[in-house]
Amino acid sequence: MRAVIYDGQNYSLNETPTPTPRADESLIRVLKTGICNTDLEIFNGYMGFRGIPGHEFVGIVEQGPKEWVGRRVVGEINIADGVCDMCQRGVPSQCRHRTTLGIDRHNGTFADYVTLVTRNLHSVPENVSDDQAVFVEPLAAALDVATAGEITARDNVVLIGAGKLGLLAAQALKLTGCTLSVIVRHETPARLLARWGIHAITLDQAARNIASAVIDCTGNAEGFAAALDLVEPRGRIVLKSTYTSLPSADLTRVVVDEIRVIGSRCGLFPNALRALEYGEIDVESLIEARYRLSDSLAAIAHASCPGALKILMEAGR
Ligand SMILES: [Zn+2]
Repeated sequence: MRAVIYDGQNYSLNETPTPTPRADESLIRVLKTGICNTDLEIFNGYMGFRGIPGHEFVGIVEQGPKEWVGRRVVGEINIADGVCDMCQRGVPSQCRHRTTLGIDRHNGTFADYVTLVTRNLHSVPENVSDDQAVFVEPLAAALDVATAGEITARDNVVLIGAGKLGLLAAQALKLTGCTLSVIVRHETPARLLARWGIHAITLDQAARNIASAVIDCTGNAEGFAAALDLVEPRGRIVLKSTYTSLPSADLTRVVVDEIRVIGSRCGLFPNALRALEYGEIDVESLIEARYRLSDSLAAIAHASCPGALKILMEAGR
């Protein structure tokens, strides 16, 4: 099969043997896979990953338990052992011994085929398209912002960082009925937010210290300091970014203003599938370009452009 392989220095498209699923795994033919900022960070050394990156996908089960063969599926990215204390507590995403699809010691989806433990798979409802299904993983993460931040209709929320994930999180937050402003720097996200009826402002226009919750989706070390400027005393900051450099911010403010800082990483796939099934979230507008897997290097270069929205890679030659 073909696969994008990262060797710790460079990535390239190679021929490599199609993986053989273990007894608890399925072999999935990848129909579409999305490029996430995490993939771009991996090419800069994130997690020390080596192998095939990619974790946003929709595919068809080709080998595995017979009730799964032929089904169109998406898959959860955390491969948990099911036995540690976190798994026993019902938090497999924080399994002590987990590997992570395309991120941490488990080959991912920038390939013709991928193997994944069958218990991680979810069937895709018929009325959810392949394009939509690719977004299930990031949408699940975006929906978790509202859950982790305990956002309700009484909240005045500011979201910083209107990139791919931020634009999904903004739509997820809107569903809570909260008062929402999104800080934008570029025209494309501003136009999308306007279409969805979400208020967009510049950082200069944002009032200081009045948001009951600030969501940082910037991915930049400066995001946390900006969030601290916007949040009100006793407010919450939800961090959705993994920072490549170390944020520097006045943590004394966290103490004096009694701010709660909440990290949020992964979310629940069934919630994301339901939101797509019911047409609650517009993901198609986030697709900026499509490439064949054979053009994966061009696809990755495009995804690396500042402000790029979702780049998909599709099966076929
Ligand atoms: Zn575990």
